[in-house]
Amino acid sequence: MTAPVLRWSHVADHLHQALADAGAPLSAYVYDLEALRAHAATIAGSLPPGFELFYAIKANSDLPILQTLAPLAHGFEISSGGELAWVREHFVEVPLIFSGPGKTDAELAGALDLGVEALHVESQHELERLAWLARERGVTAPVLLRVNLAVEGLQATTLMMGGKPTPFGIAGDQLPACLAWLRAHPEIRLRGFHFHLMSHQLDADAHLRLLDAYLRQVGRWRAQYGLGTLDQVNVGGGIGVNYREPQRQFDWARFAEGLTALSARRDGLTVRFECGRYITAFCGYYAMEVIDVKHAFDRAFAVASGGTHHFRTPYAQGHSHPFRVLPVASWRYPFARPGVREARVSVVGQLCTPKDILAHDAYVDSVRAGDLVVFPYAGAYAWHISHHDFLRHPHPRHCYLPVEVADAAA
Ligand SMILES: *Cc1c(COP(=O)(O)O)cnc(C)c1O
Repeated sequence: MTAPVLRWSHVADHLHQALADAGAPLSAYVYDLEALRAHAATIAGSLPPGFELFYAIKANSDLPILQTLAPLAHGFEISSGGELAWVREHFVEVPLIFSGPGKTDAELAGALDLGVEALHVESQHELERLAWLARERGVTAPVLLRVNLAVEGLQATTLMMGGKPTPFGIAGDQLPACLAWLRAHPEIRLRGFHFHLMSHQLDADAHLRLLDAYLRQVGRWRAQYGLGTLDQVNVGGGIGVNYREPQRQFDWARFAEGLTALSARRDGLTVRFECGRYITAFCGYYAMEVIDVKHAFDRAFAVASGGTHHFRTPYAQGHSHPFRVLPVASWRYPFARPGVREARVSVVGQLCTPKDILAHDAYVDSVRAGDLVVFPYAGAYAWHISHHDFLRHPHPRHCYLPVEVADAAA
């Protein structure tokens, strides 16, 4: 179980159908909800007692995605008032935790009014504003302090949120003052600590060592500051997806085994994960119809319908995204079909910028105008991080292939 299996034929069947009634060059996101359900169920089911999985919805907050995950995850992690309103509009009961920098008074008040389980507080000033809003309402605010921790021997990834100067969390040296302030402010209930130092973690053993360091640190703080009433530690998300070498994904099975060994360090605390990318990336596919295949100097380019305004992930992460060509037999014109065989090709979109590139010089057996190029691992930080209206091209279709298991309750 190192990586979920991609159900290519299932996705291809759907795309060929979509192509038949497209009427214009196709661009589409396809989400395999059954694959999502199976993957999330495996992850949630592999966690030992005392560990809980939250889904960080900023990775992909589409309703069918959230509906698939709600029964499997312990709850959702939200990072804005907009996400809070969106989730509460559709899920009255699901447990929520609220993270994120620069929370406004309205967002903090919304979290108190709409029953968020815990707020992850990012600074002393945020804590003071939250206490002031809680006092006004006569309620107690449940809080985890997000700490930017210096971890000895920290193995960095390509996206670091802490362990160095960043805008996130409370720097470790400010913690004593924060804790002293909290002792005089009963309107805040300190439930624990929150860490999210990195994303793109691909190494299960390194991640286990990091979690071990978090839990040891929390143990030291509990002893040092007499924090007997804590009940949780949130260890963030950050499990990566290997876009560069897709056969070598994060070894979740090994990680889950390591968690069992780590259980002794929990010391009665509940350990929460708030993963985004690793949960939803594998279920999504971005498909583009090739409009043209051309050469410039010694390079070949497939120009396809769509681009980074739909799927910014490769540009955002600086990689060449893996893809497959789905051959399409029909050809509508009475003249020659441009294409290349057994060649390297760059896949680009329709934007008027050389930055609109999704794959660089990738080997293909064949690609022709009219074929589809399909990018897997496009279910997280894909559509939702893209600049949709640059050039005002049409938005892609979004198709959700349904969950296949029978509803036991029906
Ligand atoms: C974005 C974010 C996550 C999710 O990160 P992934 O890399 O998608 O797992 C979790 N916690 C915080 C605080 C975040 O900002």
